[in-house]
Amino acid sequence: MNRYFCPVCAYPALEVPPQEFSICPCCGTEFDVDDFAFSPKGVDLIRRELRWRWLANGAPWFDSGTPQPPGWDGYKQVLDSPFLVERVVSTSAATRQSINTALLPHDPRVLQHA
Ligand SMILES: [Zn+2]
Repeated sequence: MNRYFCPVCAYPALEVPPQEFSICPCCGTEFDVDDFAFSPKGVDLIRRELRWRWLANGAPWFDSGTPQPPGWDGYKQVLDSPFLVERVVSTSAATRQSINTALLPHDPRVLQHA
């Protein structure tokens, strides 16, 4: 049976692809509902937000009807996922860059009026 990777919590054993109202038994994300956005970039941002919220809540196992993998640890699951860590790192660098760009008065007229 094919298994799919949860783009929010990195749970590697979804029974159906993360879309069309399926629900991750691990983090409880309902795909195309909780992570709905009009653009792929928006979906990415929402999934990142859902991930941090889930981790901030203590990374609880969502579905009591699905047994947790032996020795399961939600934090470890996210940290052990190079795909997600890499994306988080690269996105935060990009975010820093855009914040810097927004804060710096590149336009000389801004400096004159300041
Ligand atoms: Zn999940």
